[in-house]
Amino acid sequence: MDRTRQETAPTDRRFAAQVVVSAIFALVLGVLAGAGRWYFDDVAHAYFQNRQGDVFLSYLQYFVNQSTLVIVGIFLAAEILFQLLKLLPRLNDRAIFLVRLFVVSALLCAATLYVFHAQYWFPLALSRRVLIYVATFIGSAVVALAYMKFRQSLRSRDFGRTTAVPAIFATIVLAAINIPAVIAKHETSDQPHHVIVILIDALRADHLGSYGYSRPTSPALDAFAKESMRFTQAISQSSYTKPVIASLFTSLYPSQHNVFRNTRHDAAGNFISDVLDDSFKTMAEYLRDAGFNTAGFLEQAQLRSYMGFAQGFYYYKPDMGAAAEINRGFFHWLRLNKHRKLFAYLHYLDVHAPYTPPSRYRDMFGSFDHSTNFPEQVKDWQKFKGDVTDGNITLTQTDAEQLMALYDAEIRALDDDMAALFAKLKEEGIYDNSLIVITADHGDEFLEHGSVDHAHTLYDELLRVPLMIRFPKGENRGIVDMQVQTIDVLPTILEFCEIDQDPHVMGHSLLTYKSGANGHQQFPVFSERADLIAMRTEKYKFIYNTELKTGELYDLQNDPTESKNLADEEVKTATQMQNEILRWAEITRSAMTDQGGVKVDEKSVKELRSLGYIR
Ligand SMILES: [Zn+2]
Repeated sequence: MDRTRQETAPTDRRFAAQVVVSAIFALVLGVLAGAGRWYFDDVAHAYFQNRQGDVFLSYLQYFVNQSTLVIVGIFLAAEILFQLLKLLPRLNDRAIFLVRLFVVSALLCAATLYVFHAQYWFPLALSRRVLIYVATFIGSAVVALAYMKFRQSLRSRDFGRTTAVPAIFATIVLAAINIPAVIAKHETSDQPHHVIVILIDALRADHLGSYGYSRPTSPALDAFAKESMRFTQAISQSSYTKPVIASLFTSLYPSQHNVFRNTRHDAAGNFISDVLDDSFKTMAEYLRDAGFNTAGFLEQAQLRSYMGFAQGFYYYKPDMGAAAEINRGFFHWLRLNKHRKLFAYLHYLDVHAPYTPPSRYRDMFGSFDHSTNFPEQVKDWQKFKGDVTDGNITLTQTDAEQLMALYDAEIRALDDDMAALFAKLKEEGIYDNSLIVITADHGDEFLEHGSVDHAHTLYDELLRVPLMIRFPKGENRGIVDMQVQTIDVLPTILEFCEIDQDPHVMGHSLLTYKSGANGHQQFPVFSERADLIAMRTEKYKFIYNTELKTGELYDLQNDPTESKNLADEEVKTATQMQNEILRWAEITRSAMTDQGGVKVDEKSVKELRSLGYIR
């Protein structure tokens, strides 16, 4: 009896001592790993530059706490495993050491990879995946070896003295991070109204169920539309991304913000892009100044930071990839920031040409005759678009329908990403607490006026975009048939957030339709590209060519597809609208200068080429 007790008692004590040593080692390692993760995290970095104290702190707290918890868990699990290993047939000391070393290394490596994997940028680094795996395992093995040596060098009688210093240090660090972060969070935990603007690049309004489309392209967006103020006649300020987003952000017409030429060559052959000037106050700047935490998650080579579009965003990432990646990055950010007032801008490119829907969606709206050029050829969109423009390919109506079926499949695929987005917003408890705007920058043409893609005309297939505004708790829902425009979004958000707008804002707040009643004052809408200006009223559209000095007039009520030019028949209306356009242009284009622009980087040039923007 006595003998047994004398033998087991020291073993129990040694096991307890080893568990404590293990936990303390893990605690220190966890604090260091968390601080490292925080420092190298993109988001934390952006805040560091912007000196936003409490966000900065809550990130640090999040990363340190999470890493510490995971690593302490791993080490305790390893200690238990070591005890279980003792039940195996006797191995020599060296073999036991190696087995333990491998176990700790493998656990650490798995945990590190798990953390990497949860980072939205991990899939973007796929090409270096093997390198990441190997480096992670080597790093884990080094840490594990240090731990095993540390553990081996300790005798139970002096572990207290050896571990006291790091234990006290780690505890002080944890307290120093957690206490102020909890206080900061507590101070900002009033029920905020968030603002989320979702832009779906190249999404035509008439291809959504809620806008009367016959194909089931958009169940999630349609459900969203039912809870929203939905505008049936929302008109964009231009027919391609850059000018429209500049207008959305500033509530200015393209010729006022002067960002409306496509990417062009300079004398040296570099690609040059227009820049949204610093002097303009953008949506993100208004909201940032009103205390919102601002972030942009995008996939659009036309909207790089150096082109001026990141103004006002604490965090701005314009090259995130497919919708799932944008969602992943946004969800990651949301989890850390939802306790503050948020403004998020999400810009999805999935519906944009080339029409390459994910495989499981591809045949949803038609099967394709692969002996024709479609859909394989449209994967090289730049070549395809060039061939159409140059007349090397003459598209038939069937070709256009096949393209459209692919486009619709892309919408259906993106709709599933929207469903995931809405589900996450609900899960995080901010769906009913936010102003959510969904719109598009322009549509796409499928031979309605003899071509495909966008940017080349100002007809309605390119200008009529979806616009749905969901107010907190789905209030003010309804359908508005009055004509509204992209530049109305900013004043709407500002009025909703009770932020004063600058006098130069050109749009009108859509809160005026809150009661759902129509019959308010009607405003004509102006849209433009460098050589065209369109004026649209509820009944007519006049498109004026500033170079040829001629115009086309369409009766939108009797001819919504704009197929019959009435300029020579309804001369009085045409002349009147042309004069109004000229007067409007005199005002808006007066301050226009030929801006120098900025050189587009290689990566963006490649992307713009794949989208068919440059050749
Ligand atoms: Zn676009």
